[in-house]
Amino acid sequence: MLKAQNHSISRKLTWMNMLVSGVALVLACAAFIAFDMITFRQAMLRNLSTQAQIIGSNSVSTLLFNDPQSAENTLLALKAAPNILSAQIYLPDGRPFASYSRDRDRHSPVLPAIPPGQTETHWIKDNQIALVRSIVLDGKPIGAVYIRSDLQELYSRLQRYAFIAAIVLSACLLAALLISSIFRRAVAEPIVALSKIARIVSRDKNYAVRATPLRSPAELAILIDAFNEMLAQIQQSEGALRKAHDELEERVRERTAELEAAKKEVEEFSRSVVLAKEEVERGSKFKDQFLSTMSHELRTPLNAVLGFSDLLADERYGPLSEKQRRYIDHIHTGGKHLLTLISDILDLSKIEAGRMELAIENLGVQAAFAEVLSVMQPLADKKSQALSAKAETALAVRADATRFKQVLMNLLGNAIKFTPDGGRIELSGIPDGGRVRIEVKDNGPGIPDEEKQRIFEAFYRLRESGKKSEGTGLGLAITQRLVELHGGELSLNTQVGQGSCFYFSLPAAVSLREPLGRKTETSSRALGPQRILVIEDDLATAQLIHSQLSSAGYHVTLCEDPQNALEIAAQLQPNAITLDIVMKPKNGWEILIQLKGDPRTAQIPLIVVSIVDQPSMGTLLGADEYLVKPVDKMTLLGAIARHVRSHPKTKPGRPILIVEDDAPTREFIAEMLTTHGFVVTTAADGAQARAQVAAALPELVILDMMLPEVSGFELLGEWRASLRTAGLPVFVLTSKDLSLDEQRYLRTHAEALLRKQQPWHEALVKQIERVVAPSVAEKA
Ligand code: ADP
Repeated sequence: MLKAQNHSISRKLTWMNMLVSGVALVLACAAFIAFDMITFRQAMLRNLSTQAQIIGSNSVSTLLFNDPQSAENTLLALKAAPNILSAQIYLPDGRPFASYSRDRDRHSPVLPAIPPGQTETHWIKDNQIALVRSIVLDGKPIGAVYIRSDLQELYSRLQRYAFIAAIVLSACLLAALLISSIFRRAVAEPIVALSKIARIVSRDKNYAVRATPLRSPAELAILIDAFNEMLAQIQQSEGALRKAHDELEERVRERTAELEAAKKEVEEFSRSVVLAKEEVERGSKFKDQFLSTMSHELRTPLNAVLGFSDLLADERYGPLSEKQRRYIDHIHTGGKHLLTLISDILDLSKIEAGRMELAIENLGVQAAFAEVLSVMQPLADKKSQALSAKAETALAVRADATRFKQVLMNLLGNAIKFTPDGGRIELSGIPDGGRVRIEVKDNGPGIPDEEKQRIFEAFYRLRESGKKSEGTGLGLAITQRLVELHGGELSLNTQVGQGSCFYFSLPAAVSLREPLGRKTETSSRALGPQRILVIEDDLATAQLIHSQLSSAGYHVTLCEDPQNALEIAAQLQPNAITLDIVMKPKNGWEILIQLKGDPRTAQIPLIVVSIVDQPSMGTLLGADEYLVKPVDKMTLLGAIARHVRSHPKTKPGRPILIVEDDAPTREFIAEMLTTHGFVVTTAADGAQARAQVAAALPELVILDMMLPEVSGFELLGEWRASLRTAGLPVFVLTSKDLSLDEQRYLRTHAEALLRKQQPWHEALVKQIERVVAPSVAEKA
């Protein structure tokens, strides 16, 4: 290959030299010969012209005396010129006068016309050259001479020149060959050697080889020096690179080993983390189980203890001695403390574990204040304290109803507890930009500066005030976290001896929704069949709803024109309204806003019955219930029954059914209701309750959720699914830790939801009194 290349470059150089010299020579020879041929032809023409002139001059007299013989003799002189083929003398009229031909051919060609103003003309044809010249005497043409010559002499000359050119060319090429073989040594060989080195470098990556330096030619010497220099640099950088590479490899090896070790450690650690996590999960599961069991197992007997101690303290079963009264007080106080402690511990652990679910809704501040006050007022009364609440009617917050009330009760409870008798306690709701500021203010002892932060810690109680009164030290810790869960911050303004003001702010609600648990307050409906206004622009659907409601005994009024809905509702004052959403020209959302915004219709229970599946929107705008079409008869009647049960209290002919598996609690509720003048019957489990309701419909059911075998949820579901029991009032009374979904379900399907973790005795009686009148006069 190298040899082939070697040959190739020398051969190329030789060929190049020879080609260049050859081409140059050929071009030079061709130019010279062409020039000579042209010059020679012109000389021939000149010669012919001279001969024609001589013949013309010598023929003047012969033409004048008409002596063709003399003329032919004159022409015979041309024999001396071997190249002349023929010659003729013509008369002015074109007839031949005398002629000469080397080959004795007497043929006289027809003469071409001489261009006017000229004396002669010539032409070249068939390798011959011909010339005509006119013979002039005294300016008048008296004849013409025609001479024809061959070009033999020209061709011989050309051949001669070609021969000489060939010899010169060969000699030159030979010389070029010799010269190039000399130069090949100087030029090609160093290049070949250089390419050989380059090949070794590229193939073997051997940067130590060098090309042999040269003195000349200069360019090659520079090229070789630069090449060698480049190799030296590459060798140097390659050495440095190799060193760096080796170092890097070493470091990578070290790092890999370190990482390997670290990975092992991490794996070890993550294994231990997984184990720990599993341990924590097991622990947390156990804790959850423990807390939920504790919640139920401790609260249930405690509730009974509290209930019975209440009954005993009321001296319903005979007068008590001073000692007995004191002991019952101790039982009651201890029981209450324990119940609060259990609830507080459960709440706190739930918050800490991030499992406290909030059902945020639009909540009327005034209504919430009223509910809280109804519970706290008796406590304030006991201490002759002035307890007041103020908030604008329309003021509403975004909050979980239960937890919001819990926060208020905690703060009010503290204020009542620590403010001396006759003190003043104020609860207020103040609009504050897009938020609502809630304040609980008292004129009690106040809190020293150094304790201001510590009182929010769990189990921390002030030495002065705290120890004197009952409490767990968890109230403020829970309250603070609950407020934070709602997006607020609990703060305190206080001055020792002046009083304290606990305050926080929550996001204001856009629209106010009728608070839960007050459905039964929308009372004073007229007696007789209950009226339902059906707002529905589709005639077929309207008729279907009409027949479903009529068959259940309702008096139905149809409103097919949504534009008149508000006025009809205001005049009719129905017990409930069903409202479609997709209507024209006014849609159901607009009507819903109108109805809930007009004081004449705001209190009328409104049930949306629509194909549009947007219950949250309905709830936001104030709908009491939201049914998505298609709605079956049972669902519709159940919903209506839940919301229109607002007839004035009548003496019940039927008893109140208490469904409770814990015997003491069952007995206590029965006793409490009986002493309030209600007729009661009891069921110890779900199966009994089911059988009793099937046998005879009670006036109302008080239902515990945690029942053996058939749960409270199952019973409620069954009752709501049957036409006979769809409207049966059910009050849920439970110590179960309800999830948000369970809460939502119960709020939709039960008339009241009471929790045993909160004071519920009075609340239960009050709620029942709204629906059922006692059959006997209450004990004074
Ligand atoms: P508890 O009320 O069970 O003692 P809290 O966490 O609710 O526990 O309150 C912690 C402490 O803060 C109380 O023991 C009491 O000393 C102090 N405190 C709370 N509210 C007030 C108040 N309105 N006035 C004076 N001291 C208060």
